[in-house]
Amino acid sequence: MSSNTQLSGGCQCGAIRYTVSGPLRAAYACHCGECKKQSASAFSMSIAIPFGQLNVTGSVKTYETRAFSGKRKQACFCEICGSRLWHRTPDTDDQITLKVGTLDDASGFSPRGHLWVSKKQPWIVIPEGVPAFETQPEDVQAWRESLGQE
Ligand SMILES: [Zn+2]
Ligand SMILES: [Zn+2]
Repeated sequence: MSSNTQLSGGCQCGAIRYTVSGPLRAAYACHCGECKKQSASAFSMSIAIPFGQLNVTGSVKTYETRAFSGKRKQACFCEICGSRLWHRTPDTDDQITLKVGTLDDASGFSPRGHLWVSKKQPWIVIPEGVPAFETQPEDVQAWRESLGQE
């Protein structure tokens, strides 16, 4: 992905739209119980980006919960259709984790790392050589950065 790439995305109903400019960090998957709930699927897939890299139109609602680290976490979603768009940790930094499935074209992204594989569905096979944690590393932010860029 070149540095001037711009990607677009949004919620299911289209009330929230965003653009994000590249280059983007590598995507990763999380198989924990929380991510199964929030994604309503087998795992979540996310990309960590600075919030400032995102240009948003539409009204975003937040649901606040706690990350495993104990930090406050804001889950941002569309109040009309309920799509989860990104998570934000407001106390620590300006990073968000963008939900890959909300991109209009996510075909170029595959998980380059996996968290919480101790909770993953047995039919999901992680390719050899892809970093995977039974739970999660102490410093998740540093781990995300270690995965490189798309
Ligand atoms: Zn919507
Ligand atoms: Zn998770």
